[in-house]
Amino acid sequence: MRPLSYTRASTVDEAIATVGADSASAFLAGGTTEIDLIRLGVTRPDALVDINSLALKEIDFTPGTGLRIGALARMTDVARSADVVRRFPMISQALLLGASEQLRNMASMGGNLCQRTRCSYFRDGVSPCNKREPGSGCSAMDGLNRLHAVLGTSDDCVATHPSDVGVALVALDAVVHTLGPSGARGIPIDDFYLLPGSTPEVEHPLERGELIVAIEVPPTPIAERSLYLKLRDRQSYEFALVSVAAAVDVRDGRVAGVRLALGGVGTKPWRARRAEAALTGGPATTEAFAEAAALEMAPASPRKDNAFKIPMARRAMVRALEQVVNGDAR
Ligand SMILES: Cc1cc2nc3c(=O)[nH]c(=O)nc-3n(C[C@H](O)[C@H](O)[C@H](O)COP(=O)(O)OP(=O)(O)OC[C@H]3O[C@@H](n4cnc5c(N)ncnc54)[C@H](O)[C@@H]3O)c2cc1C
Ligand code: SF4
Repeated sequence: MRPLSYTRASTVDEAIATVGADSASAFLAGGTTEIDLIRLGVTRPDALVDINSLALKEIDFTPGTGLRIGALARMTDVARSADVVRRFPMISQALLLGASEQLRNMASMGGNLCQRTRCSYFRDGVSPCNKREPGSGCSAMDGLNRLHAVLGTSDDCVATHPSDVGVALVALDAVVHTLGPSGARGIPIDDFYLLPGSTPEVEHPLERGELIVAIEVPPTPIAERSLYLKLRDRQSYEFALVSVAAAVDVRDGRVAGVRLALGGVGTKPWRARRAEAALTGGPATTEAFAEAAALEMAPASPRKDNAFKIPMARRAMVRALEQVVNGDAR
């Protein structure tokens, strides 16, 4: 049996100093990912630093600065916040379509962003996996890869990032605020998630001891008419095969503004920038939506079991955009 120590930090500085000083320690928030991975033998910290006593649970909205979500706010509380439901429905929906009520009551927003892939080879603790054991190989490359990514893949890893709310936050240009041994910084969320490249074990730019303290979403009026569409093997308690976060502003039949991001298909929550560029200024028609969706998926690179995700993602983008435009979004 491996020893594992547990301490509860009472201040942010104490949490940062404790994890910063021990390369085998980890922050513990809701524990819904971290404890699972320890049990599975995927991660092996020697010390857990519980951060749940820290005052990082607030959810505030002001029209001038937007939404600020404390890193320890629970998924349920964010999803049910009146400001989030009214002003950022895609965030609320993405949260409510994830995990289960019990998990959402425990799981924190900071922990959600840092959750690890659901690739079964990563999680079995023994198969060759470059993300878990750098240099060991990738069992998914020619193994069972139906659930894996088609965008942003590398020769070393094709795992998807599983966060639903991360997809909505990427669409809305959220910023991840941190405090760490080197001070405070704000990381645009698209830069927070890293492509696997040749170092799939490095998933975000956090340094040792760097703590997420809040997630900020700028004021985004377009988000008031938005949705999160999630397609999966069963209707609840399941990760996305394909998901879409969409917001569109249509004026005189033309797209004045659009936000589009995809889950389930990328190695990170995927901002559909090609589709956004193609749509902006053009007609808000099904044909234009389909052309933009095809453009987004053109660079997709499937493995043997997951080519179905390409047409599925194209259709999901069209459906999500149509639902927003037709007012079925909320
Ligand atoms: C059965 C099951 C189904 C699920 N389904 C979905 C789903 O459909 N969609 C979805 O999006 N998610 C899903 N999840 C994942 C769930 O949302 C995450 O487990 C949860 O959000 C993690 O939050 P936590 O507070 O429990 O994190 P923890 O488990 O406490 O921590 C997770 C990781 O984040 C680090 N961490 C935590 N807080 C911070 C912080 N403030 N700063 C820096 N690092 C931090 C920890 O050190 C750890 O590495 C599912 C989970 C389970 C178990
Ligand atoms: S896809 Fe990534 S996480 Fe899965 S086995 Fe390959 S390297 Fe590991």
